[in-house]
Amino acid sequence: MKKFMALSLAAMTALALAGCGSGTSATTAAATEAATEAKDTTAADTAAADTTAAEKTASDKTYIINTDTTFAPFEFENEKGDLVGIDMDILKAVAEDQGFSYEVVPVGFSAATTALEAGECDGVIAGMSITDQRKEKYDFSDPYFDSGVGMAVLADSDIDSYEKLNGQNVAAKIGTEGCKFAESIAYKYGFTVTQYEDSATMYQAVLAGEAVACFEDYPVVGYEISRGLGLKLLPTIEAGNSYGFATMKGENPELVEMFNKGLANIKANGKYQEILDTYIAK
Ligand code: GLN
Repeated sequence: MKKFMALSLAAMTALALAGCGSGTSATTAAATEAATEAKDTTAADTAAADTTAAEKTASDKTYIINTDTTFAPFEFENEKGDLVGIDMDILKAVAEDQGFSYEVVPVGFSAATTALEAGECDGVIAGMSITDQRKEKYDFSDPYFDSGVGMAVLADSDIDSYEKLNGQNVAAKIGTEGCKFAESIAYKYGFTVTQYEDSATMYQAVLAGEAVACFEDYPVVGYEISRGLGLKLLPTIEAGNSYGFATMKGENPELVEMFNKGLANIKANGKYQEILDTYIAK
């Protein structure tokens, strides 16, 4: 019996890990809406129905770049309903510098990588962490922002360690490094992980008491906290990785090259710092 339990726990962990990396879990209404809306307005205008993005040549093409829906300060909707953020401004500056055209489609993080793998877009810019595992599948640009995973709890919570998560439920976002990290310590600390499609619904789960904590990139949840989100971050930072722009391995080498050249140029001419200063208080 003991052996069986150990086995099934291992199997569950394996399943949970697989779930973390796939885009198959329940989609929230908000993400579906955003994806549908994006399809209607942006992608349909530019992606020819009978040609996949990857089949077009570099010179005549408009690159389709997928992104997340709510990942401030990297991509988020402002009061006017425009998609803004560090990623959006970096992409714009790099494209201007290198003279390529692109369309951004905000579909959610997991959906973005799924679309990339299906050849439905050319690249992903979504605060995407450069990890060794991902490097097997994707080509990444040079890193453009240092980040890492933090744990956030309700502002008045007394949970101040992973040990205190014992017997509790924790929220994470599908397909992210935060989710992967949460799953990796869930068995050890005796907590369960519920996955959400986007950061907004994940935070909501903690605020509503469905989960006692969430694991998210600290600059992202930290930004929301600085804007009034009723959570607090624990000081420990895990899984520290930098963000990079991703394409499918070997599919768009010219795009990665242009991104790197453009990034180096906007770092040299001050534009990059100007973008950071627009969104992050000094
Ligand atoms: N940086 C995290 C990752 O790559 C989360 C990205 C996101 O949620 N947009 O997994």
